[in-house]
Amino acid sequence: LVSRDHKNEDTIIKVKQAVIGGDSQTLIAGPCSVESKEQLETVGSALKKAGLTVLRGGAFKPRTSPYSFQGLGEDGLKIMKDVADEMGLVTISEIMSPDQIDVASKYIDILQIGARNMQNFELLKAVGQTKKPVLLKRGLSATLEEFMLAAEYLLHHGNDQVMLIERGIRTFETATRNTLDISAVPILKQETHLPVLVDVSHSTGRKDILLPCAKAALAAGADGIMVEVHPDPKNALSDGKQQLTMDEFQAFWEGVRESGLYQ
Ligand code: PEP
Ligand code: MN
Repeated sequence: LVSRDHKNEDTIIKVKQAVIGGDSQTLIAGPCSVESKEQLETVGSALKKAGLTVLRGGAFKPRTSPYSFQGLGEDGLKIMKDVADEMGLVTISEIMSPDQIDVASKYIDILQIGARNMQNFELLKAVGQTKKPVLLKRGLSATLEEFMLAAEYLLHHGNDQVMLIERGIRTFETATRNTLDISAVPILKQETHLPVLVDVSHSTGRKDILLPCAKAALAAGADGIMVEVHPDPKNALSDGKQQLTMDEFQAFWEGVRESGLYQ
């Protein structure tokens, strides 16, 4: 169902005023974790100023250590909805288990299935049974075949509002947090009709190369970019090292626009 043999026409996902896929590109930005209303309002205002509409923010966080900040849960989702309603934004947030679908759907526009849950088949089946748009992240060590088959679960169970996002894979390289597999973009675009995005923050884990990586992704045919932004990255409760400050985000966005690769 995900293949171009089945359907050649590009899938375009419309969520409120956001259009993902087709001829335009979408820059999704926001903090790794929702931490407070003030934090999210600061990021939301910057998106508005940039003319962007899709705000990301984690409330259920898949943390490597049980001692790390686990996210604000439903309170975080409420903050996202409040800020989005106030500013006219579209929201995206991760869920990690089927029992989080209902609560997240109440507050959030697009459900994210994270890299660690790409092959959580019960989650895929359950999200597949909803009509909620979903952003599926590539697993840390998933082949493109496995990635596409994970998406196939969603479509097979009835949900065709699916977007794919490359977020880097595990390799021997230590200069970056993960290795951005840029070839995934043209391959996925060739093989599937689903929108394909690139998360430059999690794939690199460092801020100094986000712009060239974003340009490479767009030049390779990506339908969008995801980037992490935080008003005070040094004190962020997760992923502090890779999140852009508001000024850095502004410069990043200008660089993306000036590249001429973003429509
Ligand atoms: C995230 O987007 O916040 C996240 C945890 O990413 P990933 O699942 O790609 O690690
Ligand atoms: Mn993060």
